Amino acid sequence: MSKASPMMEQYKSIKARHPDKLLLFQVGDFYELFYEDAELAAKEMEIALTSRDGGSDNPIPLAGVPIHSAENYLNRLLAKGYKIVVCDQVEQASQAKGLVRREITRILTPGTITDQEMLEESRNNYLTVVMAENSNYYGLAVVDVSTGDFKVTENKSDAAWEIIADELRRLQPAEVLCNTEELEMHCRKQVDVNKSSLVETLTNIPDLSETKALINEQWSKDTWQKLDLDSYPLAAKCAAAALTYLELLQQLPPDGKHFHELELYFNYKNMIIDSITSRNLELTQSIRDGSRQGSLLALIDRCMTGMGRRLLRRWVEQPLLEQGKIEARLDVLSELQNKPLLRRDLRKKLQDIFDLERFCSRLSYQRVNARDLVALKNTLRQLDPVKEIALNCDSELLKEIAAQIPSFDELIGRVDKALVEDPPLSLKEGGLFKTGYNQEVDSLKTTANEGNTLLLDFEQKERARTGIKSLRVGYNRNFGYYIEITKTNLELAPPEYHRKQTLINAERFTTEELNRMEEQIIGARDKLAALEYSLFEELRDFVSNHTGELLAAAHELARLDCLQGLAETAEIHNYCRPVFSGKGNMSVKQARHPVVEQLAFERFVPNDITINRDRYLLVITGPNMAGKSTYIRSAALVAIMAQMGSFTPADKAEVPIIDRIFARVGASDDLSRGHSTFMVEMQETAAILRDSTPDSLIILDEIGRGTSTYDGMSIARSVLEYISKKIKAKTLFSTHYHELTELEGELPGIKNYTMAVKEKGKEVIFLRQIIPGKADKSYGINVARLAGVPLEVLVRAETILTELELAASNASEQQLSLLPMVSEPVSNHEAEMAVIEELKDLDLNRMTPLEAIQKMYDLQKQLQEIDTEDDKE
Ligand code: ADP
Ligand code: MG
Repeated sequence: MSKASPMMEQYKSIKARHPDKLLLFQVGDFYELFYEDAELAAKEMEIALTSRDGGSDNPIPLAGVPIHSAENYLNRLLAKGYKIVVCDQVEQASQAKGLVRREITRILTPGTITDQEMLEESRNNYLTVVMAENSNYYGLAVVDVSTGDFKVTENKSDAAWEIIADELRRLQPAEVLCNTEELEMHCRKQVDVNKSSLVETLTNIPDLSETKALINEQWSKDTWQKLDLDSYPLAAKCAAAALTYLELLQQLPPDGKHFHELELYFNYKNMIIDSITSRNLELTQSIRDGSRQGSLLALIDRCMTGMGRRLLRRWVEQPLLEQGKIEARLDVLSELQNKPLLRRDLRKKLQDIFDLERFCSRLSYQRVNARDLVALKNTLRQLDPVKEIALNCDSELLKEIAAQIPSFDELIGRVDKALVEDPPLSLKEGGLFKTGYNQEVDSLKTTANEGNTLLLDFEQKERARTGIKSLRVGYNRNFGYYIEITKTNLELAPPEYHRKQTLINAERFTTEELNRMEEQIIGARDKLAALEYSLFEELRDFVSNHTGELLAAAHELARLDCLQGLAETAEIHNYCRPVFSGKGNMSVKQARHPVVEQLAFERFVPNDITINRDRYLLVITGPNMAGKSTYIRSAALVAIMAQMGSFTPADKAEVPIIDRIFARVGASDDLSRGHSTFMVEMQETAAILRDSTPDSLIILDEIGRGTSTYDGMSIARSVLEYISKKIKAKTLFSTHYHELTELEGELPGIKNYTMAVKEKGKEVIFLRQIIPGKADKSYGINVARLAGVPLEVLVRAETILTELELAASNASEQQLSLLPMVSEPVSNHEAEMAVIEELKDLDLNRMTPLEAIQKMYDLQKQLQEIDTEDDKE
């Protein structure tokens, strides 16, 4: 085997430090990957796999991407859950003595991205650490490196894992780190199966004293006391493990100032919406394809900034419990709704505000250039007008927000005085600063510029002195400044000219005077670039010192943006302000489902929702497609919107404060999580019965469907009884088990409702109107007819239904097996009946004579065929 080249030795030594990551290794204008990395990258990014040292016995697999388009490839690898090390050449190949020096410049993992282009604007990108101490003690740290959010929580209870698992499902982190391999396996099941998040086991877990030290170092000294972390050691440990991990990736902000204050959170401070509920209600993504499109969030999001968009998602996922806080938001909405001009003005101003939060993150990693700072200045200039607008409003919350947006006059002034309006991208080549900012910069600039005039003067002087008209002064990268004289004039060259370079037709010289000027000019340029760079660093540090205020402003702007967006939405969709009566009743007039309302092919029919102490368990029957699911979901959406401080899709809404919402749908095929449908249904039902209170809202959509009829009905019924007698939670229960309507009057709180339908002949028309009472039959066959099921099948179905109903009323204790089999052959009589039915339904007035004759012919033929079938038997 031939000895590896020095470059490959260098490659291997760097790769050895990061065996678990893809190494992108700069070779000239390319990033190259070798060995297994190359094979993997070629497959994942669909690029060519070639080899290095192709002729030798051991060619090395190789794949490369051009550096100028590398970001795109990096993105794709990160999105697939890979970790990447980028290794750059850190000196010019021409300057290198021997092998070019290379260093690791970036370590990228899906959960630690800060690059603007790689991030989705409207959602947070989370890195999480999960730890289990034992089967009922779990901790969780949640970090968004791109915004500086840093939160921890823990739970000690029998339901601890469920609670933490639910958080993971809700957060959909890009990266999950666990303290054991077993936990890693469990966590893997929680994160979205379609999106390849990275789930790994931590190798480095700090103990308690290290934990304390790490937290003290990152945040202020009183953080530990303030949050009482002695009482929440596992939460603290998760935070510390996250810090350790980030440090390993060189992702800890160098100045330590970047992360927001550490936040200890517990879900019970907000309305709890578990991930299954969120999915069933399509709060942030649609069930159909998992995209944002079609969700409640997409419908109501009229934010103008990324900061607002990310916050709004949290508002939707975690509505408030405190009436005061909710009313404060509603007051703002009322005011902004009443002042459309002001709202428009505000929206226009917000539009020009860039993502301050993510800017701060890049700032703390020292990844901002002069253009970013100019953009910052322009954004900050928008703040005063925004504040002005908010301060002049009546709502307390708007005033509060305005008051908490700091003033950045000093910062704006400094950046404005310093940087030119359109600075170059590069920080190393000068041209960043305005004249008048720094004396030395100005004088170096003058020198560099004066150089040109000096050279022209020098040229003139030398021409005159030597009498060579064609003498000229020029510059060349390798040789510097020179005096050029053509061969024909060579003898006129004075003796003090030193030969520098010989061309075919000319000689190039230099003189001491020219050398001096050269030093002055080039020296000035180099000095200028170096000075500008260091002045830029100084300016950047100055801005860094304002990170706290900038983040505060970002937070307030996000709130303001959410509020104006909700006001805009309320206005556009004609929503009403909810009223919290405090009586625990829900009384909504003309409620609509906000999303279906926008999609509906027909006019949306609003319905009232009435829940109170005597009627808290609504049993809703009605044919398929009548609108049951839509109706019961609209109740949940009204509650969520109200508590997040939004107006609601109704004419009038009196609502209670709901502590928790459950929405479960029967027979949802949850195969992705590897449970049988029925098992899932029962687990979910168990969770509801365990965790709900009288203040909870339970939406049960045809549960009990995943098993046999009697099984399912028995379970559905006992669940109803339990809720009715024990829990007394506000419940909307849609079911196809008509037998359950018998419970009205027998059990407390139960009230039957049905979706009104009108029958027209054998057709059924959905009125979409909820009315008290029960559906007298299921109309399944009518719906089948609507769907175009062949007539023969419909008629047969009716026969079976009649027989079933008869059998059931004759002897309810009889077994299902006694009922007629569905596979029984279609009898002669029924087939003939079908023809007669069809004849009956013919609309003769709408037929031409020719069509009528054709129809007669067809029907007759059908009857004849029945006869022949009969003969065969
Ligand atoms: P069910 O649960 O009774 O089978 P759905 O609630 O799924 O019925 O509603 C079926 C369809 O009917 C929906 O997709 C929607 O298009 C329409 N729909 C439901 N409710 C209404 C309504 N109130 N007004 C207008 N269209 C509605
Ligand atoms: Mg339904």
